[in-house]
Amino acid sequence: MPVSGRDYPRTWEQFLDWFADEAACARYLEGIRWHDGFVCPRCGVEDEAYRVSRNRLLCRHCRYQCTATAGTVFDKTRTSLRNWLAAVWYITNQKQGVNALGLQRVLGLGSYQTAWAMLHRLRRAMIRPGREPLSGLVEVDESYVGRSVATRGAAVKPAQGHDNQAILRHTIVAVAVEIKTPKGFGRIRLRRVTDTSQASMLPFVKDSIEPGSLIHTDGSWAYRSLSKNGYRRHKTVMLGNPDPAHVSMPGVHRIAALLKRWLLGTHQGAIKPAYLDYYLDEFTFRFNRRTSRSRGLLFYRLIEQAMLTEPVTYSDITGGSKHKL
Ligand SMILES: [Zn+2]
Repeated sequence: MPVSGRDYPRTWEQFLDWFADEAACARYLEGIRWHDGFVCPRCGVEDEAYRVSRNRLLCRHCRYQCTATAGTVFDKTRTSLRNWLAAVWYITNQKQGVNALGLQRVLGLGSYQTAWAMLHRLRRAMIRPGREPLSGLVEVDESYVGRSVATRGAAVKPAQGHDNQAILRHTIVAVAVEIKTPKGFGRIRLRRVTDTSQASMLPFVKDSIEPGSLIHTDGSWAYRSLSKNGYRRHKTVMLGNPDPAHVSMPGVHRIAALLKRWLLGTHQGAIKPAYLDYYLDEFTFRFNRRTSRSRGLLFYRLIEQAMLTEPVTYSDITGGSKHKL
């Protein structure tokens, strides 16, 4: 278990102290990547490497040169490591997260695009590969996110003028949340889905929830074959049920409300549909670690995951311009 003050800074003061320059940042990231000692990425030999520059190491055996950030989110970037670490610190220390403008200001970055792309790269690192599926009692439902209060099945007026809001209004998010006894919520999973059919919802359930779990849903036809797929189902039929949705499915209702507030608050709803998945990942990362005692631990975890996440170029993110960050 990583320890505050040893594996990650305890305070911003300590952050400034530890990460005084690029060399110090590189050594810190080397310590995370090779915490049991250097292993050459080419020949696999475990032996102390020579340092040939502030961030470049040389394998004693095959003479291969590498950096700790090669092949990670921090690779191939013009942004200094110090700014990257400061960005991670800032993102994980703000309870509600941060938008690109906020990050640009706090880091003093010249370009909004740089701040925006840094946030997107870090969002891609927020989902840990191989994470454990949800289990126990899990509520599953779909929710509309967006500014309007469109109810399920209601006709949605085509939006005019503002693109982003229009897009969010049409977006359906699948929500799964663990329900704890006697009370409280466990972890969540979210996914943008194109509709509320079985073809959309069943893969979400199978990817997110351990077989054998008890799944609480409404009466929707989309969940008809849960038992065939190894799940137990508890069904609450809404039609004619005197309880409104927030009483019979309190978990999903609560998560959807928090998610909407976050999208419209921190991000002012200015999110394109192609990027919504990454915002859902960030929300999930934050929610599932909401009880983490130390914000510093969150900082450590996000860096750890970023070191395991493939590099992303600006054109990967925007699907267009070759602009290098
Ligand atoms: Zn080697």
